[in-house]
Amino acid sequence: AQLDTLDLIVLVALLVGSVAYFTKGTYWAVPKDPYASSAVALNGAAKSGKTRNIVEKMDETGKNCVIFYGSQTGTAEDYASRLAKEGSQRFGLKTMVADIEDYDYENLDQFPEDKVAFFVLATYGEGEPTDNAVEFYQFLTGDDVAFESGATADDSPLSSLKYVTFGLGNNTYEHYNAMVRRIDAALTKMGAQRIGTAGEGDDGAGTMEEDFLAWKEPMWTALSDAMGLQERETTYEPVFSVVENEDKSPEDETVYLGEPTAAHRAGQPKGPYSAHNPYIAPIVESRELFTVKDRNCLHMEISIAGSNLSYQTGDHIAIWPTNAGAEVDRFLQVFGLENKRHTVIDIKGIDVTAKVPIPTPTTYDAAVRYYMEICAPVSRQFVSSLAPFAPDEQIKAEITRLGSDKDYFHEKIANQCFTIAQALQALSPKPFSAVPFSLLIEGLNKLQPRYYSISSSSAVQKDTISITAVVESVRLPGASHIVKGVTTNYLLALKQKQNGDPSPDPHGMTYAITGPRNKYDGIHVPVHVRHSNFKLPSDPSKPIIMVGPGTGVAPFRGFIQERAALAAKGEKVGTTVLFFGCRKRDEDFLYQDEFKAYQEQMGDSLKIITAFSREGSNKVYVQHRLKEHAELVSDLLKQKANFYVCGDAANMAREVNIVLGHIIAEQRGMPSDKGEEMVKHMRSSGSYQEDVW
Ligand code: FAD
Repeated sequence: AQLDTLDLIVLVALLVGSVAYFTKGTYWAVPKDPYASSAVALNGAAKSGKTRNIVEKMDETGKNCVIFYGSQTGTAEDYASRLAKEGSQRFGLKTMVADIEDYDYENLDQFPEDKVAFFVLATYGEGEPTDNAVEFYQFLTGDDVAFESGATADDSPLSSLKYVTFGLGNNTYEHYNAMVRRIDAALTKMGAQRIGTAGEGDDGAGTMEEDFLAWKEPMWTALSDAMGLQERETTYEPVFSVVENEDKSPEDETVYLGEPTAAHRAGQPKGPYSAHNPYIAPIVESRELFTVKDRNCLHMEISIAGSNLSYQTGDHIAIWPTNAGAEVDRFLQVFGLENKRHTVIDIKGIDVTAKVPIPTPTTYDAAVRYYMEICAPVSRQFVSSLAPFAPDEQIKAEITRLGSDKDYFHEKIANQCFTIAQALQALSPKPFSAVPFSLLIEGLNKLQPRYYSISSSSAVQKDTISITAVVESVRLPGASHIVKGVTTNYLLALKQKQNGDPSPDPHGMTYAITGPRNKYDGIHVPVHVRHSNFKLPSDPSKPIIMVGPGTGVAPFRGFIQERAALAAKGEKVGTTVLFFGCRKRDEDFLYQDEFKAYQEQMGDSLKIITAFSREGSNKVYVQHRLKEHAELVSDLLKQKANFYVCGDAANMAREVNIVLGHIIAEQRGMPSDKGEEMVKHMRSSGSYQEDVW
């Protein structure tokens, strides 16, 4: 079996000079086996005794280009890896990728002139840095920046630093690409020299990938000029060595069959549980809040008792999903791996700084089922990177065309909402058996946990977290198949199983419900908790206004639960107003009965104002109701009410923001721009809070 890998390497060598193409993904410069101990995985370089000095690290490993990423959902990390790979293969740069939280910034003023640093930075939430970039952001944008050498912001301390930067943002949010803009401004102010433009990708417009592709070509030209680089013909060089190990059985205790860490593999997971070390939590109850035709919404109660995890009302829980069996099968079949799915593979980084993103040893099946994001929309660059490995010349030509013709790619692949395996299946019935597995690891993201706004109050049920999730099952315009969300369909399957529902595999999708080595049996799901700033006022007598249509109601169920409990204890609770919207009152009105019961208990102090978009001839949305209740809203704001918005970022949240500005202006007799300003002020003072996605 080892020959297979050798064959591939020979094949790759033979392809030298054939087609210039690029691929995503190197994972460098973080501890070698982050899965071996959760402590290492948790604390990155710090705890593993590795240096936090980037200048030293680059020197030691002979690198002249570091690509830092600030990533929340993995896209920025993926772009960083792609840039590293391209820089190395096309321009001979000695690149490394670095998680921005694994290094210190106090010596950036010592960064050598003949090297370059990239900053690939996502903006999260309301103009915030991603979790791993918080310290970096605070350091560079703080009031008194001081470097180790004693230099301050006024001394042009970064004049030797050449940098490249790209931001990942969403124009439907108020602070579009705030991270890259602020960091770029801070670096420039301190004398650093930017190469190329500060790129901005827009997820809101759905153009992230194309923005990235369009930005990077002129950037490479500018960088080549600045550093005297020569572009060269590229050929695929695998980042990882993937060796089949026939001697090892998948039953061997050293093999990862989907477990997130070594402790989980050994059957002894232990805390502290975190984004690197999930807790395998029992689902204690699951039900459907509504089911209409092909739309349904789940309510789940997840126990964190005994885990030492805690949450506060308004926090998020992350669910670690498993890919659907049907998609795992499709993927393995497309890449000709079906018959050896349970073969054990050892994955190693070829470069010393490469970080293997998958726990190893593992099997093809486990890698694809638990560790790789195989169902996401596929990128043009990744598809084109497969051309040299196409099963025949005709398919190779077609892939090359897809890679170079943006419109053609959109028509054939993107508009069809194909995953990588679906796209290749549509191109040819022949398997793509020559594609090196390393290329798939490089080109696809790690399977990401999905976040859910916790829909319970920690004051009422501190050990049980509720979630409210709509099952993603949509036929997107132009697509011939229905796109099934990874996590929500997995949760639906868990619910079906738990309730002994007749069809345990919804929509013909099968799931490995009992998890690796049956460790999730008895209906468990891996989770971690993420603390958020979306919080009730500390003084419950303050009024609150909440706008949460659809699943946007999730955190507000928790808020109301909490205020009702406080009221029941005799505490003074301020007026509590919820604007809720859905299609029809008798179809998808979430928690209708519960809210009725709370209203009976709290009387007039709880107002639920509803908007049903499909009942009358006019579509009525929450923002219309908000307008109708302008006086109430304005009065409560005068009483220092907090204003909360949760749910759809693209349309609803933006409209609500605008409407509130109008209400304030009208009710107070101000010009409309003053109203807008007031809303901005409310945002910065924390009395206008958003939890949107
Ligand atoms: P995914 O597989 O992630 O797919 C998501 C969407 O991507 C699909 O619906 C589709 O539009 C698109 N897509 C997927 N595959 C393709 C493809 N091949 N081609 C084209 N398009 C594709 N959701 C809730 O229901 N309730 C909540 O309380 C909630 N709270 C959240 C809080 C936060 C802070 C955030 C960030 C998100 C929240 N979400 C919530 C959304 C949630 O995290 C998930 O995004 C959502 O449940 C879908 O996850 P999924 O894995 O089922 O779908």
